[in-house]
Amino acid sequence: MKKKSLKVLSVLGAVAVCLTATGCEEVISAVNSAIDNVISGAIEGLTSELQGALESNLGGTINSSTEEGSSVEDSSTTENSSDETDSSGNAGGDENVGDGVDDLSVHFLSLGNKVSGDCTLIKTGDVEVLIDAGSTTGSIGTIVPYIKQYCTDGILEYVIATHGHQDHIAGFTNSSSQGKGIFESFECKTIIDFPKTTVTSNLYKEYVSLRDAEVETGAKHYTALECWNNANGAQRSYTLGEGITLHILYQKYYESSTSNENYNSVCTLITQGENNYLFTGDLEKSGEESLVQSNHLPKCKLFKSGHHGSNTSNSSALLSVIQPEVFVITCCCGDQYNFPHQETIDTVSVYTQQVYVPGMIGTSGDYELLNGNIVVSSTDGKTVRIDCSNNNTLFKDTEWFKKNRTTPKNWL
Ligand SMILES: [Zn+2]
Repeated sequence: MKKKSLKVLSVLGAVAVCLTATGCEEVISAVNSAIDNVISGAIEGLTSELQGALESNLGGTINSSTEEGSSVEDSSTTENSSDETDSSGNAGGDENVGDGVDDLSVHFLSLGNKVSGDCTLIKTGDVEVLIDAGSTTGSIGTIVPYIKQYCTDGILEYVIATHGHQDHIAGFTNSSSQGKGIFESFECKTIIDFPKTTVTSNLYKEYVSLRDAEVETGAKHYTALECWNNANGAQRSYTLGEGITLHILYQKYYESSTSNENYNSVCTLITQGENNYLFTGDLEKSGEESLVQSNHLPKCKLFKSGHHGSNTSNSSALLSVIQPEVFVITCCCGDQYNFPHQETIDTVSVYTQQVYVPGMIGTSGDYELLNGNIVVSSTDGKTVRIDCSNNNTLFKDTEWFKKNRTTPKNWL
């Protein structure tokens, strides 16, 4: 029997044990038919089907990368691995299609100014997901042309706004001399945003009005809570491509009131084969704790640092669970908040040296690139490679880091 089948069977066995306790008829039947399928050798598409059935019944995201010793490679060793056969040595008869996953790329955009913010484009085939559009309306002239390069059909299938702060939503609006923002530049099919907000700014009002105009012309709009609850047509999980799924995660501030807008952040996990990519907006430590408690978070190949590398986020409680291998800090180093904070660097240093940052305030006081646009991509759902528009220098090796931060002992 194929190694893959054995793995599936062992997972199914474990699931069957759990189900004895829960007694979910629907899931038990899915497992039974799954076991039949595995035994007959028809495992194609099986795991995702099963995962869907389990998730909707057990109320959580299933960790699909439970395998020990799954690929742990840094960018330098993964650079040329895209065409290799299965790293487990399963070469015979399985040449084809890699591992049944589509290619995926995650682009962290350099925003062209000294204000830290988020704008992340995720692409597989003709399907794009945009998470946030920061950092200022002045970024529109930078982010819209970049996205147009990759979104050639003019359609963003999923648009996620994590919370109502300017550095995450400004680019959706049109308040710029630099042209139309995201909502008017692209057809946005499904818009997912925050259930609660503390923000009342004019910029936020413009965001809402342009979002609603998009809905009038056919877009679907759901809150993250509707997604989590599979309510009103919303879904907790969306299939983006073969072996690739977008999951909306739960954290308690979707429902609990807070005066801190960052707490309202929508959290998203994208799975591609064995790779997991986590995005938490500006969620802070209390929300991270809730995120860990409410979801079965897997180890993550990539984590977009919470809140631009702030010490109010990136808790050990979260990082010890997801153990990120690539850590992208979406900030302008040395900005008005002095991001990224030393505490965050110290915490992440336990897990990885692969930290990347788009830009910094240079010696002239102007915005200058560090890595520039940071693209994390995978063709096999096991390994990733990093391609940055300016250079691939690790954060710890940059002049900015050496001058402004202390090297943690794990990086010495
Ligand atoms: Zn922010």
